[in-house]
Amino acid sequence: MTRLSSDWRRSHYTKEINENNADEEVTIMGWVHEIRDLGGIIFVLIRDRDGLIQLTAPTKHIDPEVLEDVKKLRKESVIGLKGTVQESGKAPNGVEIIPTEIKIFSLANQPLPMDPTEKVKAEIDTRLDSRFLDLRKSSVSSIFKIKSKMLHTVREFFEKNGFLEVNTPKLVASATEGGTELFPITYFEKEAFLGQSPQLYKQMMMSAGFDKVYEIAQIFRAEEHDTLRHLNEAISIDMEASFMDDVDVMKILNDLVQEVIINVKQDCKEELKTLEVDLEIPEGHFEVLKYDDAVDMINSKDVPMEWGEDLSRAAEKALGDMMDGYYFLTEWPTEIKPFYVMPNEKDPIKSHAFDLMYKNLEISSGAMRVHQHELLREKIAEKGLNPDAFGSYLKSFEYGMPPHSGWGLGADRFNMTLTGLENIRETVLFPRDRRRLTP
Ligand code: ATP
Ligand code: MG
Repeated sequence: MTRLSSDWRRSHYTKEINENNADEEVTIMGWVHEIRDLGGIIFVLIRDRDGLIQLTAPTKHIDPEVLEDVKKLRKESVIGLKGTVQESGKAPNGVEIIPTEIKIFSLANQPLPMDPTEKVKAEIDTRLDSRFLDLRKSSVSSIFKIKSKMLHTVREFFEKNGFLEVNTPKLVASATEGGTELFPITYFEKEAFLGQSPQLYKQMMMSAGFDKVYEIAQIFRAEEHDTLRHLNEAISIDMEASFMDDVDVMKILNDLVQEVIINVKQDCKEELKTLEVDLEIPEGHFEVLKYDDAVDMINSKDVPMEWGEDLSRAAEKALGDMMDGYYFLTEWPTEIKPFYVMPNEKDPIKSHAFDLMYKNLEISSGAMRVHQHELLREKIAEKGLNPDAFGSYLKSFEYGMPPHSGWGLGADRFNMTLTGLENIRETVLFPRDRRRLTP
């Protein structure tokens, strides 16, 4: 096994080589995907991140030293290959490479803990145990190429619209919403927690005069449930903007989701094909469904739900059966939303909170926020929390806080809607759930 010397550098990715490169000398770097030894001729498929290319070794017509190396190859070993491109009707991209030199950088042990060529299907737990191998499959790497495109579009979108990207702390002294879903940690001689949301900090950025901010970062939730849509560590795309109401920021969310879908559809054609997803670009405004009407619709499907309750899983499913694609749920009862949500002025039992749903999946929650110091103190106390525990947050409301609104969009859940996946674990490189903390 050799080191990488300066005279070995990739000349092409496999997907860049086709008939037009016939007779050229190329250098490829990649993994041994498959070996077929027919005696007189050996075929080796080499894989890199974006494709496959065939190495063809006619045993009588190549350098015996090169042939020795070809015979040493094992599946999933990492090699460098120098050779001549030749047209070949049957091979991927219509070309094959006749080797002139091979470097074996790393031999893979056999047998492999799982099969990255997808011939043998593995259960999700086996796959996650050997995630580095699982990620070599195009059906899996496609999910992350789409996620990368999504995150890139999100940043571009916010930058284009005058938002500042911020980074708020993830080591925090108290709960955002006073919930129990927090991971306590030891912080020197004190107790601290992992942040469940950047909520309080992004609001403080409004008092700071930053006007429009966004953050893409980890959120941590000590949720005990073992579902297909919850993880204990997730990525949240958060925004907050001053002098805007809930309707204004819903429009921003609507535009962002559409832009991401347009870009993914345009730039991830191969990935969508691999995943067998036919992405539809939603047109215009997403449908807006009031909480009141949702309750009636859910009850009409014989799923009992009282006004004032949060949506149960059964309720989400019933609603998902009646609603297509993306839609907003609005005018939530104030009681079941966090203290920082602005109540309706005329009818305070309702609020300016909304969720963005995709079929039966919640992907975002947002609201117009309470910006009045006294009202906020009252609302914290009403939730049975001690306002004094929110001292540094509340202080930012006492010296000039603009009216503001914002939302948090779950990046992993959003990616589920783009890739058609049912299990959130599929859309996270190394998912953290109740049972899994490694790899
Ligand atoms: P749910 O009701 O589905 O548990 P939530 O209302 O508790 O979600 P929010 O606090 O509103 O979640 O967080 C905003 C968004 O962050 C959610 O709409 C979702 O997309 C994402 N999110 C929240 N919790 C998780 C989690 N445990 N795993 C993955 N994504 C999450
Ligand atoms: Mg929510």
